[in-house]
Amino acid sequence: MKRCVLLFILIQSALLCVQAREANGRGIGISEQRQQLNVVYDELRRAVRRDYDLSLLPRIRVFREQAKSFGDVPIIIDSYLLEGALFEQYGAYKDALVMHFEALALAEKSHDEQRIIDVYFAFVELEVELERFDAAERYLHKISKALQRSQIGGTPTYLLSLWQAQILQFKGSYREVVAKMRPLFEQTNLPDDLKAKVTLLYARGLLSSGEFEAARRALLEVKSLQQVYTSKEQIEYQILLAKCHLQAGEFYQAELLATKELQQTFDTRYLTEQGELQQILANAHVQQQQYKQAHLYIQRALMTERAINLQKRSNKVLQLEAQFSVAQQKQQLNVLERDNAQQAQKLERQQQQLENARLTQQRWILLALLLFGVGGFLYWRWQNKRYLIVLKQQVQARTAELAERNERLQALSFTDSLTGLRNRHYFFSVIDGFISQTQQRESVLCLVDIDHFKRINDTYGHAAGDVILQRFAEILKQCTRRSDIVVRWGGEEFLLLMPDMSRQEACEVAERIRLQVSSYPFVINDHILTCTCSIGFAPLPLVPERDKWLNWEQTLELADVGLYIAKETRRNA
Ligand code: GH3
Ligand code: MG
Ligand code: MG
Repeated sequence: MKRCVLLFILIQSALLCVQAREANGRGIGISEQRQQLNVVYDELRRAVRRDYDLSLLPRIRVFREQAKSFGDVPIIIDSYLLEGALFEQYGAYKDALVMHFEALALAEKSHDEQRIIDVYFAFVELEVELERFDAAERYLHKISKALQRSQIGGTPTYLLSLWQAQILQFKGSYREVVAKMRPLFEQTNLPDDLKAKVTLLYARGLLSSGEFEAARRALLEVKSLQQVYTSKEQIEYQILLAKCHLQAGEFYQAELLATKELQQTFDTRYLTEQGELQQILANAHVQQQQYKQAHLYIQRALMTERAINLQKRSNKVLQLEAQFSVAQQKQQLNVLERDNAQQAQKLERQQQQLENARLTQQRWILLALLLFGVGGFLYWRWQNKRYLIVLKQQVQARTAELAERNERLQALSFTDSLTGLRNRHYFFSVIDGFISQTQQRESVLCLVDIDHFKRINDTYGHAAGDVILQRFAEILKQCTRRSDIVVRWGGEEFLLLMPDMSRQEACEVAERIRLQVSSYPFVINDHILTCTCSIGFAPLPLVPERDKWLNWEQTLELADVGLYIAKETRRNA
């Protein structure tokens, strides 16, 4: 049977593990897994309560790890209580206390009122076990307050009454036990395991008050509940029945039942029950006048009692040790917690410092970036300005150069390349300005043409003609003033524009030119040549009356007419 239960729990746990793993992959509902966890827990609890088999301990721990992996705190608390109960049964009170305190800490942390009450019940059980009824009553008081506070009814309230009655039983207040248990016993909706416990206590109370018939009726009424009794409760049930027989005077039945049940208690921890059975047997034998057997059982009962007392004493010592050790652990825990808090504070301070350093660093970086940006912008502006200045200078230089070139070009375009005199183009560009400046004063326009120049070309060559032209230009320059404008009008014809000059002065200048040319020895290929020229001129304006003024073109035509007349008459004129 025990193996079957273990096997069942193992299979359930394995299934849970597999499902937990599958759940990750498939997403099985958490509530479904928790339900399965609860099923395993119920099985474990029943198995533990049945006969407190120590081999269940590893299973409880594995189960707790599973509950932790699901994060199911209530089930974790239950598992601690279960382990504590198991330890308690084996007298490992220190371990039991540790488990109970673990459970209490978790229950208080999660504010699980139901579980806090469960833990208090576990403490009650432990204290009753150690016959420390005052302490047990203190826990019962706490439970009663908690139940009122959280308005929890049902099983916990029945359990409270049960434990209160249990303590009353130990204290010998049997009537009160009966009074407390009767309403519970008569209640129809009590859970089976609770009903079993209530019945046992109720029957014991009745028996202690001498009401064996009522006790027997009560016991027989719940006979069908045998399967929910723990092994210890089963023995107790039989003890109570045997006592009923004893009180009813059915000594032989009492002896038979007690003998049979005594066999069950050998090699178990149920020393109290063993002692009780031995006393029943002793009584039964006394009543049947079998004094030898009675003496034997009395002796055995005494031995059992001694063993129980010894066990109780050592239990108390162990319990004291346990309490001391738990207190010590608590103190150590407090020190550790304080230490942890200090470490946490230190860590926080360090983190804060690190954060500050990071912020400062960030600020510096930002500042550096800003400075770099501003610096870069200023440098760019400075470079730009410098570039603009250089560009401006270059533009100015280019402009100056261009102006100079233009001037040179203009000068070139206004100059005759052969003679170096001004050309016709120049004359046209200045004449209007000249007229407007000198209109109130007398000026002279004079045309000079070399005589028979074609012949020179024909005789001495074109190059010789060019030389003559050059010399001729020099003579004209020498014969005129600085202010006069000497223009090569075209071919071998020249124009003189002479400002501030009277007609008389013009005649003198013309005559001077004529004489100078005609007397000038032109040297061509080692030959000396003579050359003459004809001159025609007209004053500008021709007449003083303003309304009769001729324009410069008409005046020039007049000069040309003069030149024509000179050519026509005799040349060199
Ligand atoms: P006139 O006395 O009637 O003025 O006769 P002319 O031969 O001097 O005049 P004409 O108009 O018949 O001839 C002018 C010549 O001048 C024709 C041309 O070949 C020559 N000539 C014009 N320009 C130049 C020049 O730059 N160099 C040379 N060597 N000869 C030129
Ligand atoms: Mg000529
Ligand atoms: Mg001519």
